[in-house]
Amino acid sequence: MTALRIDGKSFAARLRALVKEAAGAIIRDHGVTPGLAVVLVGEDPASKVYVGSKQRQTREAGMNSIEHLLPDDTSQDDLLALIDRLNADPAVHGILVQLPLPAHIDAAEVINRIDVAKDVDGFTILNAGRLATGQRAMVPCTPLGCMMLLRDHLGDLAGLEAVVIGRSNIVGKPMAALLTAANATVTIAHSRSRDLPEIVRRGDIVVAAVGRAGMVTGDWLKPGAVVVDVGINRTDEGLVGDVDYDSAAQVAQAITPVPGGVGPMTIACLLANTLTACCRIHDIPEPDLGTA
Ligand code: NAD
Repeated sequence: MTALRIDGKSFAARLRALVKEAAGAIIRDHGVTPGLAVVLVGEDPASKVYVGSKQRQTREAGMNSIEHLLPDDTSQDDLLALIDRLNADPAVHGILVQLPLPAHIDAAEVINRIDVAKDVDGFTILNAGRLATGQRAMVPCTPLGCMMLLRDHLGDLAGLEAVVIGRSNIVGKPMAALLTAANATVTIAHSRSRDLPEIVRRGDIVVAAVGRAGMVTGDWLKPGAVVVDVGINRTDEGLVGDVDYDSAAQVAQAITPVPGGVGPMTIACLLANTLTACCRIHDIPEPDLGTA
């Protein structure tokens, strides 16, 4: 068996086109241009690349991109003051603070200062709590993108066994919350789990969000599993995921490649969340972007 390659790149392009069309309609019918403010502190090269892609794709979707590129030695107080200004700015509907922040900054305090209505990354405690308790939330972009790919491929997830490897606040935990809300039976595995291959073998769905190149091999998988590879690992052979694609593809039913799987979905979902935030702030009916 050779698994179907889930094409996140094309799916993301379709989602971006939907967002662009919906943004055009909002500008035309309501005189409001959705705006995303991106805050980058310091010179981290990977972060600069991500921020550049986010800005470009925001503009390509017909929305405003507002950039704040701050020096590495920016103080906590100055950063909080900027967040306060962006919270109060009517042209800004989404605020994204690129992580990681420099070590002298208290990232949790900065993130939680973001107005919950503008928290398009869904990282504030309030949005995380809403997601965990099944209330309408702004959902973190990477797990949201994973869910869209899973639903597109599998339809109803009710009763399926899902194994999420990784328990971070930005991927693993919200991913598990979304799968639980979709009525899957969810196991969260992590660095202290015992006999990880045995746990992973339970999964009809496996989501790998660890940051270890090629860790999940085909012999860890249940035949016919659907595998979502969130990992982005820079190696001598280029970017690779947490899943060893070739061996996994012999056993899985479907698998997301790296690159071209989850990655492009993350930014497309950020644009979708910005549009959604704009609609909610202005009491405009939300277009159906397939994110609900
Ligand atoms: P993180 O470092 O915050 O969390 C990693 C998780 O993996 C932890 O919960 C840890 O318990 C678990 N883990 C570590 N070693 C393990 C092991 N040996 N066995 C089982 N579990 C183990 O990372 P993160 O922010 O959640 O990101 C995970 C990966 O996803 C990274 O490669 C990151 O670059 C990538 N990522 C990709 C996107 C995207 O858009 N595609 C977005 C965010 C993160």
